[in-house]
Amino acid sequence: MAVTIYYEQDVDPSVIQNMKVAIIGYGSQGHAHALNLKDSGVDVRVGLREGSSSWAKAEEMGLKVMTMDDAAEEADLIMMLVPDEKQAEVYEQHIASHLKEGNTLAFAHGFNIHYGYIKAPENVNVIMCAPKGPGHIVRRQYVEGSGVPDLACVAQDATGNAWDIALSYCWGMGGARSGIIKATFAQETEEDLFGEQAVLCGGLVELVKAGFETLVDAGYPPELAYFECYHEMKMIVDLMYESGIHFMNYSISNTAEYGEYYAGPKVINEQSREAMKEILKRIQNGEFAKDFVADCNNGHKWLLEQREAINEHQIEKTGEQIRSMFSWIKA
Ligand code: NAD
Ligand code: MG
Ligand code: MG
Repeated sequence: MAVTIYYEQDVDPSVIQNMKVAIIGYGSQGHAHALNLKDSGVDVRVGLREGSSSWAKAEEMGLKVMTMDDAAEEADLIMMLVPDEKQAEVYEQHIASHLKEGNTLAFAHGFNIHYGYIKAPENVNVIMCAPKGPGHIVRRQYVEGSGVPDLACVAQDATGNAWDIALSYCWGMGGARSGIIKATFAQETEEDLFGEQAVLCGGLVELVKAGFETLVDAGYPPELAYFECYHEMKMIVDLMYESGIHFMNYSISNTAEYGEYYAGPKVINEQSREAMKEILKRIQNGEFAKDFVADCNNGHKWLLEQREAINEHQIEKTGEQIRSMFSWIKA
């Protein structure tokens, strides 16, 4: 299943530059969207709660700030960047009544549209611009002159040019510099949840933690275990990211490469692959979404317990101590 990838020459910047854009929320993604679009010549306003601590921060960066209702009222395009679990409520209370025919409702992740928590009226566009990276990197790379790739999707095309709007918005985010990938809301929602659960966040943290615990339980000093299983991870990933697995393999010793082929499939084995399939199934059939929303409605009880457990883990204490000696990280 091939995808189409769009670059700068494929995009018309004037589409987004001629729209009034409201960014709802000023968190990880919100600040990056607002600032990147402003620097790309787009008319941006940020919509926040009255009394929000982000209000002054956004104004200091030269952004127009107003209430969510006022921002939604003024804008042609409304980008929803409050946390996924808050979006349905914010949409009902502050956005829905301001939507006019031909407006565009935009998302950076498909959760609420795909699982049906937000239902937009038929006379508005529903699009997505989903950066494939954390918000602070989206901003940093834009400033540096590169850009985080985006998935661009259209769920509803009321005006006939929803795709051009999605593409142009992604351009304004810097996405066209490294590639805008055309996808569907279902694809983005499911692969994004799967990636963060099985590989990027869930898989990675458990892998690092399991390696650390194995060494420490066997009597090795935690500092050595940290350097080996945690600190070096970034160097290996950087080599893969920049030049491929083959180049990472070229850079490491033959001993390490032999060990990679020998041990990797023992750690990520048939059982791990079955677990990945099960995780994907629960994302596709909506069970994960239901569990997540239920925990949110329960004051994030389970999430907060897990967060506290990792914050208290020896790997975090060891890491904090070691990193405090890195002058280059503190800077
Ligand atoms: P965040 O938690 O960093 O920021 C949320 C913002 O919304 C904050 O400014 C917060 O003050 C505000 N907010 C919180 N509750 C609110 C409420 N009830 N009413 C009004 N404002 C409220 O969120 P985020 O991680 O930037 O996520 C936003 C969207 O971007 C989500 O759809 C997420 O899936 C998507 N996304 C995030 C990342 C990322 O890097 N974090 C990457 C890709 C996509
Ligand atoms: Mg995500
Ligand atoms: Mg080594």
